[in-house]
Amino acid sequence: MRRKLAAGNWKMNGGSAELAEIRELLKSSSTAQTDILICPPATLIERMRALVADAPLSIGGQDCHVAKSGAHTGDISAGMLADAGASHVIVGHSERRQDHGETDAIVRAKATASWGAGLIAVICIGETLDEREGGKTLDVIATQLDGSVPDEMAPETTVIAYEPVWAIGTGLTPTLEQIGEVHDFIRSELGKKFAERADGVRLLYGGSVKPSNAAEIFGVSNVDGALVGGASLKASDFSGIIAAL
Ligand code: 13P
Repeated sequence: MRRKLAAGNWKMNGGSAELAEIRELLKSSSTAQTDILICPPATLIERMRALVADAPLSIGGQDCHVAKSGAHTGDISAGMLADAGASHVIVGHSERRQDHGETDAIVRAKATASWGAGLIAVICIGETLDEREGGKTLDVIATQLDGSVPDEMAPETTVIAYEPVWAIGTGLTPTLEQIGEVHDFIRSELGKKFAERADGVRLLYGGSVKPSNAAEIFGVSNVDGALVGGASLKASDFSGIIAAL
Protein backbone atom coordinates (compact mmCIF):
# COMPACT_ATOMS: atom_id res chain seq x y z
CA MET A 1 0.00 0.00 0.00
CA ARG A 2 1.17 3.50 -0.75
CA ARG A 3 1.43 5.74 2.29
CA LYS A 4 -0.34 9.05 1.90
CA LEU A 5 1.81 12.17 1.68
CA ALA A 6 0.89 15.76 2.52
CA ALA A 7 3.55 18.03 1.07
CA GLY A 8 3.75 21.80 1.53
CA ASN A 9 5.59 24.04 -0.91
CA TRP A 10 6.23 27.40 0.72
CA LYS A 11 7.61 28.85 -2.52
CA MET A 12 9.30 32.24 -1.92
CA ASN A 13 7.54 32.81 1.40
CA GLY A 14 8.67 32.65 4.99
CA GLY A 15 11.46 33.77 7.25
CA SER A 16 12.46 33.11 10.86
CA ALA A 17 9.10 34.35 12.16
CA GLU A 18 7.24 31.67 10.20
CA LEU A 19 9.10 28.90 11.98
CA ALA A 20 6.34 29.38 14.56
CA GLU A 21 3.99 27.72 12.07
CA ILE A 22 6.15 24.61 12.16
CA ARG A 23 6.04 24.54 15.96
CA GLU A 24 2.24 24.69 15.69
CA LEU A 25 2.19 22.02 13.01
CA LEU A 26 4.28 19.69 15.13
CA LYS A 27 1.70 19.94 17.92
CA SER A 28 -1.28 19.24 15.73
CA SER A 29 0.31 16.61 13.51
CA SER A 30 1.99 14.39 16.09
CA THR A 31 -0.70 11.75 15.66
CA ALA A 32 -0.97 12.05 11.88
CA GLN A 33 -1.20 8.75 10.02
CA THR A 34 0.40 10.18 6.92
CA ASP A 35 3.81 11.34 5.79
CA ILE A 36 4.32 15.09 6.01
CA LEU A 37 6.81 17.09 3.99
CA ILE A 38 7.53 20.82 4.09
CA CYS A 39 9.62 22.48 1.38
CA PRO A 40 10.57 25.91 2.72
CA PRO A 41 12.87 28.39 1.03
CA ALA A 42 16.45 27.11 1.16
CA THR A 43 17.30 29.74 3.80
CA LEU A 44 15.09 27.93 6.31
CA ILE A 45 15.97 24.30 5.63
CA GLU A 46 18.63 23.92 8.29
CA ARG A 47 16.68 25.69 11.03
CA MET A 48 13.50 23.83 10.18
CA ARG A 49 15.39 20.54 10.23
CA ALA A 50 16.67 21.34 13.74
CA LEU A 51 13.19 22.32 14.86
CA VAL A 52 11.47 19.13 13.75
CA ALA A 53 14.27 17.04 15.29
CA ASP A 54 12.99 13.48 15.50
CA ALA A 55 9.37 14.28 14.60
CA PRO A 56 8.02 12.40 11.57
CA LEU A 57 8.10 15.49 9.38
CA SER A 58 10.41 15.67 6.37
CA ILE A 59 12.05 18.77 4.97
CA GLY A 60 12.68 19.34 1.27
CA GLY A 61 14.15 21.82 -1.17
CA GLN A 62 12.14 23.48 -3.93
CA ASP A 63 14.67 23.03 -6.72
CA CYS A 64 18.25 21.95 -7.30
CA HIS A 65 20.89 22.40 -9.96
CA VAL A 66 21.82 19.47 -12.18
CA ALA A 67 25.52 19.75 -11.28
CA LYS A 68 27.13 18.74 -8.00
CA SER A 69 29.07 22.00 -7.65
CA GLY A 70 30.69 24.70 -9.73
CA ALA A 71 30.34 28.20 -11.08
CA HIS A 72 26.55 28.57 -10.92
CA THR A 73 25.91 31.73 -8.95
CA GLY A 74 22.71 31.60 -6.94
CA ASP A 75 22.08 27.92 -7.52
CA ILE A 76 22.00 25.09 -4.99
CA SER A 77 23.01 21.50 -5.63
CA ALA A 78 21.08 18.46 -4.45
CA GLY A 79 24.04 17.53 -2.28
CA MET A 80 23.89 20.91 -0.54
CA LEU A 81 20.19 20.40 0.20
CA ALA A 82 20.95 16.99 1.66
CA ASP A 83 23.80 18.47 3.69
CA ALA A 84 21.40 21.08 5.12
CA GLY A 85 19.03 18.33 6.25
CA ALA A 86 16.63 17.93 3.33
CA SER A 87 15.40 14.48 2.36
CA HIS A 88 13.31 15.54 -0.65
CA VAL A 89 13.44 18.07 -3.45
CA ILE A 90 10.77 19.37 -5.81
CA VAL A 91 11.88 19.41 -9.44
CA GLY A 92 10.07 20.71 -12.51
CA HIS A 93 7.54 22.89 -10.72
CA SER A 94 5.60 24.87 -13.35
CA GLU A 95 6.92 28.11 -11.85
CA ARG A 96 10.46 26.86 -12.58
CA ARG A 97 9.43 25.64 -16.03
CA GLN A 98 7.80 29.03 -16.82
CA ASP A 99 10.07 31.51 -15.02
CA HIS A 100 13.38 29.76 -15.71
CA GLY A 101 12.71 28.01 -19.00
CA GLU A 102 13.16 24.54 -17.56
CA THR A 103 12.56 21.83 -20.13
CA ASP A 104 11.65 18.20 -19.55
CA ALA A 105 15.29 17.30 -20.22
CA ILE A 106 16.47 19.65 -17.47
CA VAL A 107 13.86 18.34 -15.05
CA ARG A 108 14.96 14.80 -15.83
CA ALA A 109 18.60 15.72 -15.13
CA LYS A 110 17.55 17.35 -11.87
CA ALA A 111 15.71 14.20 -10.79
CA THR A 112 18.83 12.17 -11.51
CA ALA A 113 20.95 14.68 -9.56
CA SER A 114 18.52 14.42 -6.60
CA TRP A 115 18.85 10.65 -6.49
CA GLY A 116 22.62 10.97 -6.72
CA ALA A 117 22.52 13.00 -3.52
CA GLY A 118 20.22 10.51 -1.78
CA LEU A 119 17.11 12.70 -2.05
CA ILE A 120 13.57 11.77 -2.98
CA ALA A 121 12.53 13.69 -6.12
CA VAL A 122 9.05 15.21 -6.30
CA ILE A 123 8.66 15.59 -10.07
CA CYS A 124 5.95 18.06 -11.13
CA ILE A 125 3.92 17.96 -14.32
CA GLY A 126 0.71 19.65 -15.45
CA GLU A 127 -1.05 21.33 -18.35
CA THR A 128 -1.77 25.02 -18.94
CA LEU A 129 -5.29 26.35 -19.41
CA ASP A 130 -4.79 26.64 -23.17
CA GLU A 131 -3.70 23.02 -23.31
CA ARG A 132 -6.68 21.93 -21.19
CA GLU A 133 -9.13 23.89 -23.32
CA GLY A 134 -7.49 22.62 -26.49
CA GLY A 135 -8.14 19.03 -25.40
CA LYS A 136 -4.43 18.33 -25.12
CA THR A 137 -4.16 17.55 -21.41
CA LEU A 138 -3.36 13.84 -21.66
CA ASP A 139 -0.90 14.38 -24.53
CA VAL A 140 0.93 17.02 -22.49
CA ILE A 141 1.00 14.77 -19.44
CA ALA A 142 2.33 11.83 -21.49
CA THR A 143 5.07 13.99 -23.02
CA GLN A 144 6.10 15.49 -19.67
CA LEU A 145 6.16 12.08 -17.99
CA ASP A 146 8.21 10.59 -20.78
CA GLY A 147 10.64 13.49 -20.82
CA SER A 148 10.92 14.30 -17.12
CA VAL A 149 11.02 10.91 -15.40
CA PRO A 150 14.39 9.15 -15.77
CA ASP A 151 14.52 5.47 -16.74
CA GLU A 152 16.09 4.60 -13.36
CA MET A 153 12.93 5.67 -11.56
CA ALA A 154 12.32 3.79 -8.30
CA PRO A 155 9.11 4.15 -6.28
CA GLU A 156 11.01 4.65 -3.02
CA THR A 157 12.75 7.75 -4.35
CA THR A 158 10.11 9.22 -6.64
CA VAL A 159 6.89 11.15 -6.10
CA ILE A 160 4.96 12.60 -9.01
CA ALA A 161 2.85 15.71 -8.53
CA TYR A 162 0.11 16.55 -11.02
CA GLU A 163 -0.37 20.30 -10.83
CA PRO A 164 -2.55 21.86 -13.53
CA VAL A 165 -0.92 25.25 -14.06
CA TRP A 166 -4.28 27.02 -14.18
CA ALA A 167 -5.25 25.66 -10.76
CA ILE A 168 -2.15 26.94 -8.97
CA GLY A 169 -2.91 29.88 -6.71
CA THR A 170 -6.17 30.63 -8.53
CA GLY A 171 -8.75 29.02 -6.28
CA LEU A 172 -9.82 26.98 -9.31
CA THR A 173 -9.61 23.20 -9.23
CA PRO A 174 -10.40 20.60 -11.86
CA THR A 175 -13.51 18.52 -11.26
CA LEU A 176 -12.98 15.29 -9.34
CA GLU A 177 -13.56 13.42 -12.61
CA GLN A 178 -10.83 15.42 -14.32
CA ILE A 179 -8.39 14.79 -11.47
CA GLY A 180 -9.23 11.08 -11.52
CA GLU A 181 -8.83 10.88 -15.29
CA VAL A 182 -5.33 12.38 -15.16
CA HIS A 183 -4.17 10.39 -12.12
CA ASP A 184 -5.40 7.10 -13.62
CA PHE A 185 -3.68 8.06 -16.87
CA ILE A 186 -0.38 8.83 -15.08
CA ARG A 187 -0.49 5.46 -13.32
CA SER A 188 -1.15 3.64 -16.55
CA GLU A 189 1.54 5.54 -18.49
CA LEU A 190 4.06 4.77 -15.75
CA GLY A 191 2.96 1.14 -15.89
CA LYS A 192 3.74 0.96 -19.61
CA LYS A 193 7.27 2.14 -19.03
CA PHE A 194 8.12 0.90 -15.55
CA ALA A 195 5.87 -2.18 -15.16
CA GLU A 196 5.41 -3.12 -11.48
CA ARG A 197 7.65 -0.24 -10.36
CA ALA A 198 4.76 2.08 -11.24
CA ASP A 199 2.48 0.71 -8.50
CA GLY A 200 4.45 2.12 -5.59
CA VAL A 201 4.94 5.64 -6.92
CA ARG A 202 2.93 8.19 -4.99
CA LEU A 203 0.89 10.56 -7.13
CA LEU A 204 0.07 13.91 -5.54
CA TYR A 205 -2.51 16.39 -6.73
CA GLY A 206 -1.58 20.09 -6.45
CA GLY A 207 -3.46 23.31 -7.21
CA SER A 208 -5.69 25.26 -4.80
CA VAL A 209 -5.96 22.42 -2.27
CA LYS A 210 -7.45 23.69 0.99
CA PRO A 211 -9.05 22.13 4.07
CA SER A 212 -12.53 22.48 2.55
CA ASN A 213 -11.79 20.52 -0.65
CA ALA A 214 -9.04 18.16 0.53
CA ALA A 215 -11.21 15.23 1.61
CA GLU A 216 -13.07 14.96 -1.70
CA ILE A 217 -9.83 15.23 -3.69
CA PHE A 218 -8.18 12.57 -1.52
CA GLY A 219 -11.14 10.31 -2.24
CA VAL A 220 -10.27 10.22 -5.96
CA SER A 221 -8.60 7.06 -7.26
CA ASN A 222 -4.82 7.19 -7.58
CA VAL A 223 -4.56 10.39 -5.52
CA ASP A 224 -2.00 9.57 -2.83
CA GLY A 225 -1.79 13.02 -1.29
CA ALA A 226 -1.32 16.65 -2.15
CA LEU A 227 1.33 19.23 -2.96
CA VAL A 228 0.00 22.36 -1.30
CA GLY A 229 1.15 25.93 -1.84
CA GLY A 230 -0.75 28.77 -0.13
CA ALA A 231 -2.59 26.60 2.37
CA SER A 232 0.66 25.07 3.63
CA LEU A 233 1.86 28.41 5.02
CA LYS A 234 -0.53 28.36 7.99
CA ALA A 235 -0.34 25.42 10.37
CA SER A 236 -4.09 25.61 10.98
CA ASP A 237 -4.88 25.18 7.27
CA PHE A 238 -2.21 22.59 6.57
CA SER A 239 -3.18 20.47 9.56
CA GLY A 240 -6.78 20.52 8.25
CA ILE A 241 -5.51 19.09 4.98
CA ILE A 242 -3.37 16.48 6.75
CA ALA A 243 -6.38 15.43 8.79
CA ALA A 244 -8.39 14.91 5.60
CA LEU A 245 -5.88 12.42 4.17
P1 13P B 1 -1.50 26.50 -4.38
O1 13P B 1 -1.86 25.44 -3.39
O2 13P B 1 -1.18 27.83 -3.74
O3 13P B 1 -2.50 26.60 -5.49
O4 13P B 1 -0.10 26.07 -5.06
C1 13P B 1 0.05 24.76 -5.51
C2 13P B 1 1.46 24.55 -5.85
O5 13P B 1 2.00 25.12 -6.79
C3 13P B 1 2.24 23.66 -4.98
O6 13P B 1 3.47 23.35 -5.54
